[in-house]
Amino acid sequence: MRLSRFFLPLLKENPAEAQIVSHRLMLRTGMIRQEAAGIYAWLPLGLRVLKKIEKIVEEEMVRAGAIQLLMPTLQLADLWRESGRYEDYGQEMLRIKDRHEREMLYGPTNEEMVTEIFRGTVRSYKDLPLNLFHIQWKFRDEQRPRFGVMRGREFLMKDAYSFDVDEAAARKSYNRMFAAYLNLFSRMGLKAVPMRADTGPIGGDLSHEFIILADTGESAVFCHKDLVDMPAPGPDVDWDNLEGVFEARTSLYAATEEMHDEAAFAQVPADKQLSARGIEVGHIFYFGEKYSKPMKAVVNGPDGEITVHMGSYGVGVSRLLGAIIEASHDEAGIIWPESVAPFDVAIVNLRQGDEACDAACEKAYKALTAAGRDVLYHDTDERAGAKFAAMDLIGIPVQLIIGPKGLADGNVEIKHRATGERHTAAFDDVLNQLT
Ligand code: ATP
Ligand code: MG
Ligand code: MG
Ligand code: MG
Repeated sequence: MRLSRFFLPLLKENPAEAQIVSHRLMLRTGMIRQEAAGIYAWLPLGLRVLKKIEKIVEEEMVRAGAIQLLMPTLQLADLWRESGRYEDYGQEMLRIKDRHEREMLYGPTNEEMVTEIFRGTVRSYKDLPLNLFHIQWKFRDEQRPRFGVMRGREFLMKDAYSFDVDEAAARKSYNRMFAAYLNLFSRMGLKAVPMRADTGPIGGDLSHEFIILADTGESAVFCHKDLVDMPAPGPDVDWDNLEGVFEARTSLYAATEEMHDEAAFAQVPADKQLSARGIEVGHIFYFGEKYSKPMKAVVNGPDGEITVHMGSYGVGVSRLLGAIIEASHDEAGIIWPESVAPFDVAIVNLRQGDEACDAACEKAYKALTAAGRDVLYHDTDERAGAKFAAMDLIGIPVQLIIGPKGLADGNVEIKHRATGERHTAAFDDVLNQLT
């Protein structure tokens, strides 16, 4: 992408309405624009990151055995009457009527709909286990939408739903999602800690929230320090035997405010007690027959009808942009982890219009693009300082700096956003290294 042909409406000033750094930086870098309270347009830079996050989530779901589908955003109220949640959900639900006066709603979550799909299509216990997921916009009419995409009203969620013959099988499905979540957050450069959590309006008895520690987080959390740096199990874990992965993380104390138990926390050695604030980026539930029973989601088993056991598993895809920025920024702007950066490499032309500089930049741009790298070529005639500031602000991991002095000796400069480290190297070596 050439910056001169891209749409990157950077703000010069800090927007006054933003209270936390991620919101401020997302507005300043032109990633999002608010269209109504808690409702955002995703501008090109923001959309690129959103898509990368979505892709990681998708890949890790598929790796764990889940199958992707896409359910609509609008749902029938009658479906929610079957589970009893239509009345229960309260004001967070956006209720709509169509031209036939039929009551509808913009989905805040999809347990009812996926249960309806299941009961209409799956007949035999031999088709289980089954885990269906989608990545779809949700609407929750939050009382206090704030902090940008962190608490939006319209937001993108990955939600997966598992179906099993009994509780033991359902716990296996739960553990798969548990491990998949550890892996997917880790791929985004995040340290997410699973914590015992309240089940809220989703219902059920086994539940974990995945929490990113951050001072600006909305939840108070309490955990054993060792959980924070515990590495993710990785893709090659034994997906059929995950009890160990689950045990290692759940035997140490970790709970959100609603589930916090002072007495149990006091048992944690004093130097390992961590009480902090956190951002909820994912939430998994096992809730057994809560929906399958009233909605009659059953399969034929070897000895008759079985009411299926279900779980649901959410990831706040759009909230993750905010969470990653909260975890990774400095005074100059965002520091994107490579895996989710909107571009891999920025080419900074120090003297636009200089024949040698322009030619070298073009050569680098073509070579890197051909090698499959996402490249942003800063090709406007702004001065060098402004170019550096812009590329630091939007957080591109690597800057390839090309200027007349270096080029005279066949050299260019490489700058790493995360460390600030810069070094000079031969142009051809750099091209080989980056392609
Ligand atoms: P919160 O406690 O922040 O209100 P929740 O517990 O109501 O979230 P869940 O029903 O568990 O949310 O939904 C799954 C995930 O969707 C959450 O873990 C969170 O990452 C994300 N999410 C929920 N509400 C919002 C929102 N208003 N804006 C952005 N992401 C959200
Ligand atoms: Mg909520
Ligand atoms: Mg919550
Ligand atoms: Mg939750």
